[in-house]
Amino acid sequence: MNNSSFLDIFDFDLDRVVDLINRSEAKTVGLQFPEGFKRQAFSIARELEDKTGALVLVSGNPCFGACDIDMVLKRSVDILFHFGHSELVDGLDNVIFMETPARVDIGHVVEKAAVELDAGTVGLVTTVQHVHQLDKARNILGSSGMSCVVGTGDSRIKYPGQLLGCNFSAAEVKCDNYLYIGSGKFHPLGVAVATGSKVLAADPMLNTVEWVDPERILRQRGGVIAKCLDATSFGMIVSTKIGQERMGLARRLAGLAKKHGKEHIIISLDNITPDALLQFKVDAFVNTACPRIAIDEGGRFNAPVLTPVEFEIVLGERDWADLVFDEIRDDAIQQGY
Ligand code: SF4
Repeated sequence: MNNSSFLDIFDFDLDRVVDLINRSEAKTVGLQFPEGFKRQAFSIARELEDKTGALVLVSGNPCFGACDIDMVLKRSVDILFHFGHSELVDGLDNVIFMETPARVDIGHVVEKAAVELDAGTVGLVTTVQHVHQLDKARNILGSSGMSCVVGTGDSRIKYPGQLLGCNFSAAEVKCDNYLYIGSGKFHPLGVAVATGSKVLAADPMLNTVEWVDPERILRQRGGVIAKCLDATSFGMIVSTKIGQERMGLARRLAGLAKKHGKEHIIISLDNITPDALLQFKVDAFVNTACPRIAIDEGGRFNAPVLTPVEFEIVLGERDWADLVFDEIRDDAIQQGY
């Protein structure tokens, strides 16, 4: 994708950014982009400096979500613009979230999906990039004779119907099937595992629709759990990122390890990478940071990476049948997750 086509596909709303900088008379401005958007940093920084006269500093640290604010950069600038995500954490006074909605029309792919879904009540879910078009999806499915329900989600969810990779609370609705509008398979798989219902994934970028099958991922996770049944030492990973930190959970899991006579250590770090953990010689890690790490990246670490729920299965504290994706959500936090 070249530069101009990328800026055509996602709305960075740079006019608003320029206006906010000029009105606030900010002298230093920080920009934070998720990995996929970083290639736009050069041209956006140039444009903002030219139009405002402010000094622009771009975060080079990895950024995977709104949970992951560059707090050092935030303290060094008058305003920090965080692109690509909706607000997740309250009280970040000088951080402005620029959601960069996708401009692609979801109409075509939803019409395809209507043929597959056929009838009944459909639970609509999506990511922040397409959430502003959910009414359009509702109208298309409605004119094909289906009714739609959209869940509100919990306090980490800004818009009805919005999913995060760590939070499927907006999928808690009564419906026959779900329609996920967005790219990638992680979110629809998470909804399928969390709800036990069928999920049709409609990708507006590729104009494809596909029923997701969670069996393969559940088998894979079962394999990781089986590998850890004889493990005697565990490293509990805790993130220091503002929206991922679950120290209380790590301490509770450490308590469970102790109860079952397992060696354990709590490891606190910012970016959880295989290199950062290489020197910790444990039989398995238990990840309390971003829930996607164990699923998407687990195979790259020098020991298996379990989710908190999977660790409980390893210890016999939970049934295999209760295997679900790890989530960071209000009710889970209240229950000690
Ligand atoms: S914790 Fe992970 S899935 Fe949740 S918002 Fe952060 S990066 Fe995304």
